[in-house]
Amino acid sequence: MHDSMTDEQRLISDTVRHFAQTIVKPRAAEIDQADEFPVDIYREMGALGLLGMTLPPEYGGSDAETVSWTLVQEELAKASAAVADSHMVCKLMCDVILSNGSEELRRAYLPRMAAGELICAIAQTEPNTGSDVAAVQTTARRVEGGYSITGTKQFITFALNCDLAVVVATVDRALGRDGIGMFLVPAETQGFRRGSKTPVMGVRGLATGELIFEDCFVPDGFVLAQPGEGLKRALTSLGSGRIGMAAQSVGIAHAAFEDAVSYAQDRHAFGQPIAKLQAVQFMIADMSMNIEAARLMVRRAAQCKDAGQPIIREASEAKLFASQMANRVVNDALQIHGAYGYSRDSAIERMFRDVRVYEIWEGTSQIQRVIISRQILNVRH
Ligand SMILES: Cc1cc2nc3c(=O)[nH]c(=O)nc-3n(C[C@H](O)[C@H](O)[C@H](O)COP(=O)(O)OP(=O)(O)OC[C@H]3O[C@@H](n4cnc5c(N)ncnc54)[C@H](O)[C@@H]3O)c2cc1C
Repeated sequence: MHDSMTDEQRLISDTVRHFAQTIVKPRAAEIDQADEFPVDIYREMGALGLLGMTLPPEYGGSDAETVSWTLVQEELAKASAAVADSHMVCKLMCDVILSNGSEELRRAYLPRMAAGELICAIAQTEPNTGSDVAAVQTTARRVEGGYSITGTKQFITFALNCDLAVVVATVDRALGRDGIGMFLVPAETQGFRRGSKTPVMGVRGLATGELIFEDCFVPDGFVLAQPGEGLKRALTSLGSGRIGMAAQSVGIAHAAFEDAVSYAQDRHAFGQPIAKLQAVQFMIADMSMNIEAARLMVRRAAQCKDAGQPIIREASEAKLFASQMANRVVNDALQIHGAYGYSRDSAIERMFRDVRVYEIWEGTSQIQRVIISRQILNVRH
């Protein structure tokens, strides 16, 4: 796969690998244990031009292709899933503002988001709904000059430290999909409140928690998608997110695979390295094959995106395959490590907790199957 990269892609990949392995990886355990967001690493990603890399130069980016972005996602995830995810959320929110915001909003927020100075959250999930976005209960009431938002969002990455949030809300629940709008709400807005932190099993350090909106006034200029358009636009932005999740899954699996290979060569049982046991060799062979297959699917989906082709099916297939693959690979890597893999001190144990969420967020594995089969059969579920 490395050989099929352009010179520019190889340079990006090698540069980020060095950054991830020397700066991020040594901090991964600490980020996980403290469950604290590494602001300094985030800013450094901004300074290196990684956060807004796909944005046009006038907004602080370098017009990088999606393929290059996925290479960055993979390298970061090899070091820390949490850091890789922070990189992904930034891109998604930059994309949302770039595609839907006014020129004023773009100039006000994108360069600072790309620099890592401002953090933007996506506030979609609620206590009573996740996959079924059309069922959100947070309401956007029309008032003079804008909307007033009221409701509670849950499981929001960056809830506790975001400077602004893209909020998905409905003008009228009875309208279902047609009532959904998307709104940009700066954290200093009156009525914007952070709720409690949510203790999570993995990907710790992302300030996950609740966001509460109490009659938050959003002026018309901050409406990113008018009611009726919001659901479609929110879902469109998830396309790149799914490719990113697939790339991160490949990164985590690859890191677990490398650890397993080296452990198998060092660890002895019955007078020989366990790498000489066929049962272990076969696990390693399967890991390698599956990682490479997922990587190719990520590449294909990213290439489709760069070519301006539809990516709904490709992104969902890549996300579904890669996240399931990564869960199997990390599980096998833990098995190869035996009890050491189960120890709280091992990196594999953290990866095992981190990787589980990849089958849940950005659309569960079941929802990916709904999307893929809908694309193939042209039916609504
Ligand atoms: C660590 C973490 C961070 C997150 N960050 C964010 C964030 O930043 N912003 C945000 O908005 N959300 C975020 N989420 C929420 C995440 O996107 C949702 O958890 C996800 O969309 C699934 O929703 P749910 O958990 O409510 O599950 P539900 O929708 O309640 O689903 C429960 C189960 O039912 C299944 N199911 C539901 N509908 C169908 C169907 N039609 N067919 C088959 N099976 C179905 C699901 O697959 C799942 O197994 C985060 C979650 C976690 C864990």
